[in-house]
Amino acid sequence: MATVYLTFDDGPLGGTDDVVAVVTAEQVKSTLFMVGDHVSSAWRRGVLDDAHSSRFIQVANHSSTHAGGRYRDYYAADPRTVLEGFNRATTTLRITGQPIDARLPGRNTWRAGSIRRTDPANGNDSARAANLLASHGYRLFGWDVEWRSTGRNAPEGAGHPDQRVSDVVRAIQSSLDRSGGTQTANKCIVLMHDPMFRASRSEGGGVTDRQQLVQLIQALKQAGFDFDFMSNYL
Ligand SMILES: [Zn+2]
Repeated sequence: MATVYLTFDDGPLGGTDDVVAVVTAEQVKSTLFMVGDHVSSAWRRGVLDDAHSSRFIQVANHSSTHAGGRYRDYYAADPRTVLEGFNRATTTLRITGQPIDARLPGRNTWRAGSIRRTDPANGNDSARAANLLASHGYRLFGWDVEWRSTGRNAPEGAGHPDQRVSDVVRAIQSSLDRSGGTQTANKCIVLMHDPMFRASRSEGGGVTDRQQLVQLIQALKQAGFDFDFMSNYL
């Protein structure tokens, strides 16, 4: 049976508390790729603490600054700046041990075991930073399927889920059914963004954004998938 790797990016933000509560209540292993500089208030520190306290959450590194949203500049600059940022985030996020599981901002680039794939964006511009991180104990993971958010280009946290739960389940299933549809056979990494799942919000129908995440997890359980941490991927 196939394994699904639920990954949630960009916390701690509004919505990260909902993600932590849902995956813990549903008891599904999940990985939260967090941004060091987002740990910027007592409330957000508390959310990070809650994530660390959950047996069902792996906290992973998604940089210090998220490139400030300026990916081309970030990857054009000295890659040592990128490495220093990731090292800062490792400390801020209290990630211990080696290798350090991480994801680059804005790029589906992999450096994990024998997997070396570089996002083609802007002429493979993330390659230098990825190589440097890989030589300093980082293991970089991209993703196979994204549950898109309406907030992709909106201010932080503005998004709702932009695809129906049934369509996301179908996308996961078809990626696994297709030869080469996922980076590794029988393993599907699903990318989501924390602000999509706030309990306080809904987009019609009375179902909250948070409840949609519950529905996805329950549908995947019903389909017989296993769930695991990124640390167990290779
Ligand atoms: Zn991100």
